Amino acid sequence: MFKFDSEIKKQVSLIIVFTVFIVMSYFFNAAIYTYKQSKQQTALVSQEFISTTEKTNTEILKNQPTEITPEGSIKVPIIVYHSVRPYYEGQTLEEKEFSITPDSFEKQLQYLKDNGYTTIALQDIALSLTQNKKLPLKPISINFDDGWENQYVYAFPLLKKYGFTATFFVYTNTINHRNYLTLEQLLELDRAGMEIGDHTKSHPYLFKITDPIELREEIVVSKENLEKILGKKVNVFSYPFGNSSPESIEIIKEAGFTLARTGYWGKYHTLNDIYTIKSMQVSEDFEKFLGLLK
Ligand SMILES: [Zn+2]
Repeated sequence: MFKFDSEIKKQVSLIIVFTVFIVMSYFFNAAIYTYKQSKQQTALVSQEFISTTEKTNTEILKNQPTEITPEGSIKVPIIVYHSVRPYYEGQTLEEKEFSITPDSFEKQLQYLKDNGYTTIALQDIALSLTQNKKLPLKPISINFDDGWENQYVYAFPLLKKYGFTATFFVYTNTINHRNYLTLEQLLELDRAGMEIGDHTKSHPYLFKITDPIELREEIVVSKENLEKILGKKVNVFSYPFGNSSPESIEIIKEAGFTLARTGYWGKYHTLNDIYTIKSMQVSEDFEKFLGLLK
């Protein structure tokens, strides 16, 4: 009996130990599971935190006022137009090259609007390079050369419609002449917040002129005439046919211009090339237009 009792006791003890073991291992597993779960969650949270942080950093980078390249330049596409008018029968290839239809022009403006571009004056580029003036996110400068009346007739209303400004470069000999801007139109562009720039007096190949007196007649006198007309300072200049020269740069500086735009291709600007600022001629080709902005 005693033996039997002790045998039962032994078995009961074994069962108890086994049960305790089972129960304990259950709790242990449960604890491990909870621990793993919480670890995983922490990892998830960290992951989320990292991606949020990365996103924030990206946003900060994207929201830099101007794109600073390693060389310390600023990126501002300066897109240049000449005539804006509907196609007409017998238009030559050259005329087509320097002309865009109002529909195509509007399509480009719509794209700029939809993609967050802000138009700035060339004077803003000068101020950004010389005085670190903050530029808006995705700045762009729209330029019109040669003072064609069609720019007033077709482009000006569209610029107003999209809330954009532009720079109009005129050469003073043409004002009030057939197919060119009238004095009143020029003043209206100025009043509407458009920037008016100097494009010489008679649109010569400036780089072929080395005589300072002749250069002054084209650069200094035209500036004075424009300033008299507008009653304000004219700060920016663009080279006829796009070519600069050391002699013309000297006179441009002497005249007090803060910036001069060439036809040399590019969209990154540094303080060193403030008198040889690069630009890009725009055509009808929409794909090409998109390429210019990249
Ligand atoms: Zn020109």
